[in-house]
Amino acid sequence: MNGFPRPSEEKPREEKREVEGACPACGSHDIAAYRVLSDGGWWDVVKCQNCLSSIERRRSENQYAPCTLLWNLM
Ligand SMILES: [Zn+2]
Repeated sequence: MNGFPRPSEEKPREEKREVEGACPACGSHDIAAYRVLSDGGWWDVVKCQNCLSSIERRRSENQYAPCTLLWNLM
């Protein structure tokens, strides 16, 4: 891997990805997958956007993405 492109937006934000399926808690089809920074690092989560219940939560594989730029300079 060779670094990341500089964000063009002033405030970069994680893209939410729409996910097919229904929320087991409220039955809503408004479900999105995105990354969150929480205890233990980055997590890939799938959450109902209606009631915010977590459908899936797993540790992201790329924990050190923000550090690669620094490593490139060393
Ligand atoms: Zn729900």
